[in-house]
Amino acid sequence: MKQIIGIDIGGTKIAIGLFDETGRFIASSTIPTHAQAPFSEAIVRIFEAVDELLGNTTTLTGIGIGCAGPLDTEKGVVQNPYTLSGWENAPIVATLSDRYGCPVRLENDADVALLGEVFAHKKEKPVRNALMLTFGTGVGGAVLHNGKLFKTENFGHPEFGHILVAPGEGECYCGGDGCLEGLASGLALTQQAQALGFEDFQDLVAQGGLQGSGKFLVHQWVERVGRALWTLVHIFSPSMVILGGGAMSSLFDLVNQKITENMQSGIFYKEFALVEASLGAEAGMVGAATLVLPV
Ligand SMILES: [Zn+2]
Repeated sequence: MKQIIGIDIGGTKIAIGLFDETGRFIASSTIPTHAQAPFSEAIVRIFEAVDELLGNTTTLTGIGIGCAGPLDTEKGVVQNPYTLSGWENAPIVATLSDRYGCPVRLENDADVALLGEVFAHKKEKPVRNALMLTFGTGVGGAVLHNGKLFKTENFGHPEFGHILVAPGEGECYCGGDGCLEGLASGLALTQQAQALGFEDFQDLVAQGGLQGSGKFLVHQWVERVGRALWTLVHIFSPSMVILGGGAMSSLFDLVNQKITENMQSGIFYKEFALVEASLGAEAGMVGAATLVLPV
């Protein structure tokens, strides 16, 4: 049977998935990253985990990898990511391709998460333009533009978290004042809920805070994220907008309709679907596998 492997490399763990050639999930395993240890040690453990998933009967046709940046995706090298301090200039693509004799592709972790979600939400018509915002400690983003991942110079990544959405309302470490990330990330929501006496945003929701003191938090979030999306949609004209991150589990249903209505009040781009990320921690592994799906 022809199969493919998707690998999602994070600072604490590495998720490895085995898929068939249509992208259907077969099996997976997770190993610790030990980020400070050298790449030469980590790769041995990756080999072991991949070998175990493959067993004896598989023809491996490709390996896709998603990894924290910065990366040189053309050379297939992990450059000097602060989350993987032992991996400086790690030639991960060449190393895996030498061992398994198949095509190997490397992309940024936020980009493969987007690809995974697009794959999971795929419709009859292929999605060639999509945008994803992830609300966690910060606000991450990725764009699929005319079927290709959108990148900045030197394979860099767009910093959508630093779009100004409320000028003057909060200095950001980037030098801006009123960035999306500082005001609307999962962390920002936690801090805003704590300022109202709740443990975090989930606690605020669970205790019915949205009927009272917490109501304006959601209103404010919709307004700020709405501004960022208004800008992004007018630049990239996506047919699918995906919202992800831990905060979405308690937020998406509350904001879905308002954000969609806000976007569709414009005259230019009405035809897009606003969806909640559905794969959670598996998005990276699934998206990595899609990098090597046969066309
Ligand atoms: Zn900023």
